[in-house]
Amino acid sequence: MNYVTHSLGGVAAGLVIVSAGNITDPVQQSTIMTGAILGSLFPDIDHRQSWIGHKLPIAADILAGLFKHRGAIHTPVFVLIVSIILGMLNWGWLHDLNYLATYFIKGFIPGMVSHLILDTLNVQGIMWLWPISTKRVHVLSIRTNSMMEAVVCIVLAACLYGQYTAIF
Ligand SMILES: [Zn+2]
Repeated sequence: MNYVTHSLGGVAAGLVIVSAGNITDPVQQSTIMTGAILGSLFPDIDHRQSWIGHKLPIAADILAGLFKHRGAIHTPVFVLIVSIILGMLNWGWLHDLNYLATYFIKGFIPGMVSHLILDTLNVQGIMWLWPISTKRVHVLSIRTNSMMEAVVCIVLAACLYGQYTAIF
C-alpha cells in the first residue's frame, strides 16, 4: 500500500485510541494522532523508495540492507520489540523530558499495527506468524498504487470523515 493509504490507516488507529481512551485535551489528542500517522508509515523503513525511506535515508539504507521489504520489520514481533524499546525509553527518560511522549507512543504503536493490517490486504501479504512461520498471509490481493487501492483509500477517507465528525 502507498503512504497515503497507510497514513489514513494511522488516522483511523489514532481516532480509535483518542475515543477509547476518552482523551479530550486537544494537545494530547494531536500528539496521539501525530504518533499514529508516523507509526503507520514507519514499517516501510525497510524500503528505500518509501516515503519514510526518503525522510530517513541512512536508517532505510541500513535496514533495507539487513532485511527484505515486508520481511521481519513487517511483523507483530517487530511491533512488540519497538513497543518494549519505546516503553523502556519512556519510563527511563522520555517521559521526564516531556510528558507528551507517552501520548506519542500510545499513537505510534497502534499506527504500526494499522500498517500490518493494511499490508494484509496487499497481494504480497506479510508474515503474521514470524518467526514461527515465514508464510505470508493476505486476505485480499490489492496491488500497490492500483485502482483497487484508490478505492480502498477513498472508502477509508469517507469512513474516517464520518468518525472524525462524530468524535470532535
Ligand atoms: Zn509496508
